[in-house]
Amino acid sequence: MEVRVRYAPSPTGLQHIGGVRTALFNYLFARSLGGKFILRLEDTDRTRTTDEAVKNLYDTFEWLGVKWDEGPDVGGPYASYIQSERSGLYGKYALELVAMDKAYYCFCDSARLDRIRKEREDSKSSETGYDRHCRAVPAAEAASRAAAGEPHVIRLKIPLGEKTLFRDHLLGDIEWKNDDVNPDPVLLKSDGFPTYHLANVVDDHLMKITHVLRAQEWLPSTPLHVIMYRAFGWEHPEFCHLPMVMGQDGKKLSKRHGSTSVDEFRNQGYLPEALLNYVALLGASYEEGRDIFSLEELARLFRLEKLNKAPAVFDYKKLEWFNGQYIRLRSDAELAELALPYAVSGGLFGPAGTTPSAAQKAAFIAALPLVKERLSFLHEIPGKLGYLFSEPAIPAAEEFIPKKLDLARAIELLELGRALVSAMAGESDAAAEERVKAAAETAGAKLGDFMMPLRVAVTGSRVSPPLFGSLRILGAEKVIARVDRALGSLKNA
Ligand code: GLU
Ligand code: ZN
Repeated sequence: MEVRVRYAPSPTGLQHIGGVRTALFNYLFARSLGGKFILRLEDTDRTRTTDEAVKNLYDTFEWLGVKWDEGPDVGGPYASYIQSERSGLYGKYALELVAMDKAYYCFCDSARLDRIRKEREDSKSSETGYDRHCRAVPAAEAASRAAAGEPHVIRLKIPLGEKTLFRDHLLGDIEWKNDDVNPDPVLLKSDGFPTYHLANVVDDHLMKITHVLRAQEWLPSTPLHVIMYRAFGWEHPEFCHLPMVMGQDGKKLSKRHGSTSVDEFRNQGYLPEALLNYVALLGASYEEGRDIFSLEELARLFRLEKLNKAPAVFDYKKLEWFNGQYIRLRSDAELAELALPYAVSGGLFGPAGTTPSAAQKAAFIAALPLVKERLSFLHEIPGKLGYLFSEPAIPAAEEFIPKKLDLARAIELLELGRALVSAMAGESDAAAEERVKAAAETAGAKLGDFMMPLRVAVTGSRVSPPLFGSLRILGAEKVIARVDRALGSLKNA
């Protein structure tokens, strides 16, 4: 039997880590078994669905490079994949259940439902949900009242006094007392629209979904769905409720912990492959002793058996580490292309938004290898490379003075360094380093001490990308001008 799985979001907000994890696991599962991955929009709650959310859904997965085999945009044999476009189809299934005495009409208006809620609150009753009032209305009477146009919903008739058993791939055998299941949830609303429960079960059946991989928060709905499948006489898909995703404090991941929407990560300069790789590890393992996997490798290695029961902890620092790793995995040319927009918007080439001249662009491309190993984010580039594109401010004299030395010695070392610049700017970084080493030795200075005044003069900071590469990119003329400026300021200090 062909494996068919779906991601079935209700597009009410931005795609977040949890949703992406669900989608990704479904995708990987389908790919690992040569099955189909389907996108279905569960937009039956018309008041909460928004166009922006739908757009964000498409943008997100396009950016991540995760593609479905069937879905609203690509079509497929079970179209439409948008529930609101299928709304005419669900009513008949609800009526089928009514005819089989597995569902019933409920005529309670919102005033009555509010009243019960209020009464329970006042009496501090622990009961929640519907009080099953209309279960008692004789079927024939209910049918004629509905036929006469009395407003109604259709509710599932949960078989009381029984248990519902099903197997979850991850959690094992699950047994739920029916009396503890949401009391007779609405299947069809008074406007004829289905609720999540009805549309979800009917569509999973019609779309021949074989496995439902979804977040653990849906577990309480599953007994109800199983009851419905059995009421229809349909076989239910296999269920696998995915491990929760928590913040470091053990509470469900939320905005309190930090960014949760993919848009936020994207705007912060995360690479899609870093985010995907990290999210793929949230509650699953693939191969011992390895963290970095391409999407193709993940798809080959994914197994439900390798899901963890324990909740996954979302570690922002680890994600940052992944991002750095993926930055380093890009070729210099790819990285330059990817990073250029961040450099432009970060104001590397002039006021924010300034596009680079040809010379600036060449310098940018030449400079990226200097910082590639030190980046966690692409937006850090303007901060790290700024000194190559504009004159850094001259720091206070103390900054130039190596530990245990004094101003006079710093000036002396800087002058010695200045004398080497012309020769160094034309040679390889390794040769330049040899030259400096020799000069430091002759001057009786430690290499680091020798370089410090020069580094500060050229880059404006004690901590900078590699100095020799910087000299090479800036060229002798600019470097000497900066050194002279620094010398002037130090001699006046
Ligand atoms: N529409 C539900 C959601 O928003 C789908 C849950 C399920 O996968 O059954 O997550
Ligand atoms: Zn009722």
